[in-house]
Amino acid sequence: MIDPHVHCRDWAQSHKETIAHVLSVAERIGLSGIFDMPNTSPAITTREFIEKRLEDADKVNSSVFYGVYAGLTSDKNQIKEVVKAWRELFPRVVGLKMFTVKSGPSNLEVSKEDEQRLVYQTLVEEGYDGVLAVHCEKESKLRPDLWTPKNPKSHSYARPNESEVNSVADQIIFASDAKFKGNLHIAHVSVPKSLEFIEVSRRWSKVKLTCGVTPHHCLLNYEDIPKSQDGLLYKVNPPIRDKASSEKILSLLKEGRIDWIETDHAPHTLEEKTGKALDTKGNPQYMSGFPGLAFYPHFLDFLRANDFSNEQIKNLTHRNICNTFGIDLPERDIIPDRTLHKEYEVDVYRGIRKWE
Ligand SMILES: [Zn+2]
Repeated sequence: MIDPHVHCRDWAQSHKETIAHVLSVAERIGLSGIFDMPNTSPAITTREFIEKRLEDADKVNSSVFYGVYAGLTSDKNQIKEVVKAWRELFPRVVGLKMFTVKSGPSNLEVSKEDEQRLVYQTLVEEGYDGVLAVHCEKESKLRPDLWTPKNPKSHSYARPNESEVNSVADQIIFASDAKFKGNLHIAHVSVPKSLEFIEVSRRWSKVKLTCGVTPHHCLLNYEDIPKSQDGLLYKVNPPIRDKASSEKILSLLKEGRIDWIETDHAPHTLEEKTGKALDTKGNPQYMSGFPGLAFYPHFLDFLRANDFSNEQIKNLTHRNICNTFGIDLPERDIIPDRTLHKEYEVDVYRGIRKWE
C-alpha cells in the first residue's frame, strides 16, 4: 500500500506533524510508501529544500519509502529548476504539485488562468512527462463571505461544488491545449460532476488523466458535521459535500472509475482548528485539514465489508499508483495497527469507527 498524498509538515510546523511520525504511523499500518506534499513552511519549491527534505527523511531510517512532490509557482525559472531536480532525483522526487488556491502558509498558489497556462506551457518546453498532481478549486468561485465559525458546515457553502468542477475543467483544457505530455492527476475529487468531466475528457483529450479520492469524501457528508464547535474539526479543503455526493463518490470508487485512494493526511493542533490559536495578524485560526492516515486500515475494513474484492483494493491502494508514477514498491503484508488515531488530537472519524 502506498499513500500518495500526505502532509508530513515538519520544519516550522513540527508541532503539527513530522516526517518521522508519519513514517512511523505508515510503517505500523502496513504502508510501503508515502508521497509528501510541498506546502510546508518553507515550501518545497527549490533544489535546496528538496535536498534538505530528502536528507531529513533519510535520517529517520524507515523501511517505508519516502517520496516528495516539488511545488510549482508561476515563476518560469522556478518551474525549470524543479523539473531538473525531478529528472535527477526521481523517484525520490515523485512528481510536481500545483495548488490552484492558497494552501497553508506558503505562497504556492497558482490561481490565475494565465499563470496556470504558463505552468503547462513551461512543463511542455522542459519535456516534463512525469506526474503533475493538482489541487483543483477555482479561487474566483469561492464564497468566503458565506463562512462563519459559528456554523461550521458553512465552510461547505463557502467552497461550492462549482469551484472544484470549474477548476478541474480548466486544468484539463489548459493541459490539452498545451499538449502536456505528463500525467495530469486530479487530487482528492469530491464532486461527482468533476469525475464526469474527467471521464468525458478521456474521450477527446490526449492528456493522460488520473484521479484520486479520500476516505473522508467517501464516508462523511456535511449533515454529519456537528453544529457545535466540534464541527470545526471537520473543516477540510475541498470541503465535505452533501450526502448524495459522498454516496456517489463511493459507488464510483467501487465501479473502478477512480484510480486510487489518497488520505490527504493533514494534521493541525486542536487549538489551530478551533480558533484558539491566532494567526500572524492576531486573528483566530480555523485551519483546514485533519489527520487521515491512522484511519486508513479502518477505511479498508469498510471497503471489504462493502464487497470490494482484494484485487480491487490492491489496485486502488498500490498497483495503479506504481503504474502511474513508474515507481515499483514491494507490497507489505502485515496486520495493521488500528489504534493509531490515539496519537492525534483531532479525530473526525470517531463516530463512524464502529467496525473497530
Ligand atoms: Zn493535500
